[in-house]
Amino acid sequence: MALINDGIPTKEDLAKVMPSEERFAQGPVSIAECFQKIPCNPCVKACPRGAISMSTDINDTPTVDYDKCNGCGVCIAKCPGLAIFVVDKTYSEDFALVKFPFEYVPVPEKGQFACGLNRSGEEMGWFEVERVVSGGKKNKTYTISLKVPQELANEIRNIKVGGYK
Ligand code: SF4
Ligand code: SF4
Repeated sequence: MALINDGIPTKEDLAKVMPSEERFAQGPVSIAECFQKIPCNPCVKACPRGAISMSTDINDTPTVDYDKCNGCGVCIAKCPGLAIFVVDKTYSEDFALVKFPFEYVPVPEKGQFACGLNRSGEEMGWFEVERVVSGGKKNKTYTISLKVPQELANEIRNIKVGGYK
């Protein structure tokens, strides 16, 4: 299947936006899994380091400069397409942190375990919520940090709503 049919990026789509393992080894980094040409660009203004750019065509897809990005995560809640993630493979030897946008209720709390989902919505196991950050008074998008095994850092991109334990 292709992105246009089911909304799920292919391996080829992901390869175009995935940082190198060398970059992952340097610390947290943003990944814009934004593949559809739509008139949208708040991510560009959201980044305080100017790490996200786009051509003059607002329908273009964004590019992250992995050298400028420090993985702060500010851009995650500013993307209306919920397409930006931050992955930190330097979190520990066994675990990576995956930070992703979340707009549902209930919102999990730090320390709870949530069922992690891959891009297809498949359940991948239960993982600890390391941090929950509100988007602010005018932004209902939270940023969740989930502690996942290193081998799932490029797979898990969401959690199942509710049933946290
Ligand atoms: S994580 Fe921070 S530095 Fe990186 S692109 Fe997003 S806002 Fe910019
Ligand atoms: S804000 Fe999100 S959906 Fe819009 S262009 Fe940027 S990454 Fe894509």
